[in-house]
Amino acid sequence: MVKYDTVLIRYGELSTKGKNRKDFITRLYRNIKYALRDYDDLEYTKTYDRIYVKLGDEDPDEISAKLKKVFGISSFSFTEKVPNDINTIMDTCLRIAQETDKKTFKVITKRHDKTYPLHSDEINRQVASRILHHTDLKVDVHNPELPIRIEVHGQDAYITSEKIPGAGGYPAGINGKVLLLLSGGIDSPVAAYQLMKRGLYVEAVHFSSPPYTSEAAKQKVLTLAGMVSEYQGHMKVHVINFTDLQLEIYKTAGDPYAVTLMRRMMYRLAERVALANGCLALGTGESVGQVASQTLESISVINETIKMPVLRPLVCYDKVEIIDLARKIGTFETSILPYEDCCTIFDPKNPVTRPSLEKCEHYESHFDYQKLIEEALANEETVMTEPEKKEEDFL
Ligand code: ATP
Ligand code: MG
Repeated sequence: MVKYDTVLIRYGELSTKGKNRKDFITRLYRNIKYALRDYDDLEYTKTYDRIYVKLGDEDPDEISAKLKKVFGISSFSFTEKVPNDINTIMDTCLRIAQETDKKTFKVITKRHDKTYPLHSDEINRQVASRILHHTDLKVDVHNPELPIRIEVHGQDAYITSEKIPGAGGYPAGINGKVLLLLSGGIDSPVAAYQLMKRGLYVEAVHFSSPPYTSEAAKQKVLTLAGMVSEYQGHMKVHVINFTDLQLEIYKTAGDPYAVTLMRRMMYRLAERVALANGCLALGTGESVGQVASQTLESISVINETIKMPVLRPLVCYDKVEIIDLARKIGTFETSILPYEDCCTIFDPKNPVTRPSLEKCEHYESHFDYQKLIEEALANEETVMTEPEKKEEDFL
């Protein structure tokens, strides 16, 4: 195994220009440092189009696992930084070739410094001929087992073999803050991931209905929040007691309209929490047609309660696609643990799939939901997934 001393980080989404580009890089730089905050031995360098992290004695595999969760990175490579004279470049490439057990190789040079005396092709040829003379490796230009990449800069050259795909997207937090309705299910943690990937900083609100929903159910949601929060550092979760509102809804409206009314209340509460916390939009894990409350008619009647935009990143996804993503981000196994949710406890037998706005408003006129909303908000509990960190540390 070749021992590289530096990670070279490439950015994604760089159609952004001017100030946006500067903001992108500044934010990404901070997010990378935040993701690697537990490692003391690292040295960071920022250039126009790259970030370099010198590894010291830190474990490359651990660093790699952390970097894979930082949005805004298009790819990264472990690399060796050497002075850019051709002999040093050839020696280093030869050593990499000698240390590998691969059978075929290809040299791929990119000159960032166009004044360098040798052209890319000449560098490729000289390095390849050195490796061919001193090892048993063969050249394979189409499908090399060992691609050796050389990047020539003003004073240094970076020599690297493997290009590791990054998480893509925008650096978390660069596009503002959104409040996600987070349940213990499969969908909403995936929605959190998608929103973060668009550069949004996600805060969450969870509605619990004790004693009908247990402490364990709430902990499960906080565990899920902790898992997805790795993509942005940490997460603030607002836990709101929904019991009184829910009981009142059942008393007043009975079975078919209960879910629609519950969700209208959730939206109202969420909008208030969002406004109080500087979030410009809500987010949900809703997907059209998935359940009764997610028909277009339902979404429309539910959405009518608030002014704020609602981002629904999963709106057109199939369940199978959502599950694939949940597995990829590691939340699936936790999401399917059997805990009760406030919606399942009062699971109505015949939920209406085409609710009418008039009926919703009719039922809602029969009880003082504003008072219950105020009470629920007054008793909100706020949990940080990493209690020792403050939001300001990150945002
Ligand atoms: P999920 O897997 O995310 O629970 P679901 O398929 O079970 O989704 P619903 O229960 O209808 O669908 O919920 C749709 C969306 O409403 C969820 O994705 C989430 O954003 C929000 N939501 C549902 N229940 C709660 C809750 N108890 N607290 C906060 N948000 C919730
Ligand atoms: Mg659910």
